[in-house]
Amino acid sequence: MSQSPEIDHALALLRAGQVIGLPTETVYGLAADASDEAAIKKIYELKGRPADHPLIVHIAPPSLKDKDSEEAWSLALQPWARDIPEEALVLAKTFWPGPLTMVLTKAKQVSPLVTGGQDTVAIRCPNHPVAIDLLKQWGKGLVAPSANRFGKVSPTCAQDVLDEFPRQDLFVIDGGACQVGIESTIIDLTRVEQLGPRLLRPGMLTEDTILQALSLVAKESDDSSPVPRVSGSLSAHYAPKTPLILRGRNTVLPDLNHKKVAYVSLGLDPQPFAQASELTLLEWGLNPAKYAQQLYRVLRDFDKENYDYIIFDEPPHAQEWLAILDRLKRAARGSGH
Ligand code: AMP
Ligand code: MG
Repeated sequence: MSQSPEIDHALALLRAGQVIGLPTETVYGLAADASDEAAIKKIYELKGRPADHPLIVHIAPPSLKDKDSEEAWSLALQPWARDIPEEALVLAKTFWPGPLTMVLTKAKQVSPLVTGGQDTVAIRCPNHPVAIDLLKQWGKGLVAPSANRFGKVSPTCAQDVLDEFPRQDLFVIDGGACQVGIESTIIDLTRVEQLGPRLLRPGMLTEDTILQALSLVAKESDDSSPVPRVSGSLSAHYAPKTPLILRGRNTVLPDLNHKKVAYVSLGLDPQPFAQASELTLLEWGLNPAKYAQQLYRVLRDFDKENYDYIIFDEPPHAQEWLAILDRLKRAARGSGH
């Protein structure tokens, strides 16, 4: 028994092969026993996710005193990965628990349902007290993709998860609003010796920060080598129903006459969109961490309020904004359905 009845209930459901809603610092996940194929299938069904789209395995951190020990992280990874490179252990001890997912060569026993049939597996140790508490008591891995229907905006609070699956009797542990607010950075370390680490999905932990941590074990990487397989990321994703426009310097806007517009501004335009019949203006400063934290929140809220358009000023094309820019571009492409 743990201190928390909610965690006890979640553990009982997981043991019974059920799916639960789990808070992490990035976004909320739909978690199931990573060694139970029937439970994993339920996640695919719930999300409406194609079967070849792999899931991330979530693991517990070693005890606090071992957090800096490569050996302890190696032991934690071994049930899931083989041929674990030194780089993975350096990144684990530097950034885990945290918003970083590593793709490694999978261990034999990992189900192809977890990996989308690939020989690689994605692993993360999340940094949220509830997730850590649950994973420690669970003692095994949990697969936990974001708790949204396929292609939709990821949830950043417990109510968002319930809103995504209104007809399901889903138990969600309420861990408050997500600190990071967008999905983890994914880095591929398979064949790192030949190809170097490869960024598959940008996140708030930037590529520069990761490369800096790896500089100690840096090996010659060949930049001209082709990037083999980018993760299942689709160009349209994270999408609200309302049409979303990413407004760059040269963007031609549609006619906004009599339109209800929600606008997230970087403060460049003192009197924007005077012709709109109704304008909700949010002025967000140039703080990427805060921006990411609020991004999915406002997309969901705008979607509930029947705007004709959501307009975002295009953020700067700098390292620390790349993950946000990536999500906004995909949201724009997939929006309006
Ligand atoms: P989500 O869990 O919703 O954040 O999505 C999981 C992300 O991890 C997707 O973009 C997957 O394509 C990616 N992913 C999971 N496993 C692998 C893998 N073995 N190789 C590459 N990408 C992966
Ligand atoms: Mg997702």
